[in-house]
Amino acid sequence: MTAGRDYDVLVLGGGLVGAAIAHGLTRRKLRVAVLDEGDLAFRASRGNFGLVWVQGKGRGMPAYADWARLSADLWPEFSAELEAITGQPVYYRKPGGLALCLSESEMEERATLIRGMHNQQGPKGYDCQMLDRKAVREMLPQAGPAVVGASYCPHDGHTSPLHLLRALHTAITQAGNDYLPEHRIEQLEGLAGGGFRVVAAGKTFAAPKVVLAAGLGNPGLGRQLGLNLPIRPQRGQILVTERLPAMFHYPINGVRQTAEGSIMLGSSQEEVGFNNSTSVDVLSRIASRAVRAFPVLAGANLVRTWGALRVLAPDEFPIYLEAPDYPGAFIATCHSGVSLAGAHALRYASYVAEGRLPAELAPLHVRRFDVQTAARTEPRAHRISGR
Ligand SMILES: Cc1cc2nc3c(=O)[nH]c(=O)nc-3n(C[C@H](O)[C@H](O)[C@H](O)COP(=O)(O)OP(=O)(O)OC[C@H]3O[C@@H](n4cnc5c(N)ncnc54)[C@H](O)[C@@H]3O)c2cc1C
Repeated sequence: MTAGRDYDVLVLGGGLVGAAIAHGLTRRKLRVAVLDEGDLAFRASRGNFGLVWVQGKGRGMPAYADWARLSADLWPEFSAELEAITGQPVYYRKPGGLALCLSESEMEERATLIRGMHNQQGPKGYDCQMLDRKAVREMLPQAGPAVVGASYCPHDGHTSPLHLLRALHTAITQAGNDYLPEHRIEQLEGLAGGGFRVVAAGKTFAAPKVVLAAGLGNPGLGRQLGLNLPIRPQRGQILVTERLPAMFHYPINGVRQTAEGSIMLGSSQEEVGFNNSTSVDVLSRIASRAVRAFPVLAGANLVRTWGALRVLAPDEFPIYLEAPDYPGAFIATCHSGVSLAGAHALRYASYVAEGRLPAELAPLHVRRFDVQTAARTEPRAHRISGR
């Protein structure tokens, strides 16, 4: 059976990356279908921490540092417009964010990272500073004696990722485009004369362009276009407390108070393959670090825990490219799909619409992994921190 409509672009995957790009294409009046396996798939977009984060991103990859900052700069416009279109709040706030250090060695490590980012970004600057304990306590009076200091970046913020995902899907369908859950892609084919054919849920879809944005499903789709996309899952576990009176004005890597009042604690970084379950040892380490930082949390009741899988390239930076043998097939896969939603909607979608990725994104092409010297992050088991 052939799907009845003509589409300009098929977006394969309806998590935060696919939905943000599809929303951007919708803004440009293109006819779009988002084909999405849906809630039963591994879906980082439903299990993440909700930070819109700049600090620390892009060490060794200036193009990514710039892209993350651009996205943070676009977020106010992106979120305000999305809320106006859909009437749905996404609870974006941008008070700046802190990465806490609970020992002198963490402080030194963090200062080295931030100094490195300043050096790397050179004259264009890098807007992030180290704060001593006194300065942190002025911003976060609940900080306990274990807090030695923090880095602070005024461009950081946070949002509700579930509300964001829902608003993106609403914006797409409200404009007359199709968001199609339970449409797992069975086949993706580049046609000899150009364009693509996709089979999902027993139906055939066709369009001149496709965007591969299926998170951990992207390697399988990429293979059908002759691409090797080296992406792996990495588990993160998160805990959530009961709703509490407002106490954290700033998002912190590892502690974030939601608009409803509950406090999220997290998240681990675990190399456990396609396993999104939770484990008591990791959850208790996350909780005890949070209580060391903020003793006031010791009495808070936990109401929920979960695990979710990150979508990670070997160097943990995004992968963006147009498939060399299949013009019109764009790939977008990244670890920070919340943070990058502004850039995906307001920039990446325009590049897809215009049919060309800009030179600034060339360093994020998958071919960087062909180079021996490409930055490589060895998997580290059981780290706990925000990125
Ligand atoms: C614990 C944790 C904390 C995080 N915290 C943050 C944070 O604070 N800030 C931040 O910016 N990012 C954070 N992230 C990362 C962020 O959640 C991801 O970068 C983002 O969700 C990736 O979106 P995605 O759409 O690429 O992938 P996913 O959300 O995984 O979605 C992939 C989609 O593709 C679909 N799909 C897969 N295969 C197929 C197929 N064959 N056919 C059709 N559809 C398919 C699935 O149904 C799914 O909807 C976190 C992630 C985790 C796990």
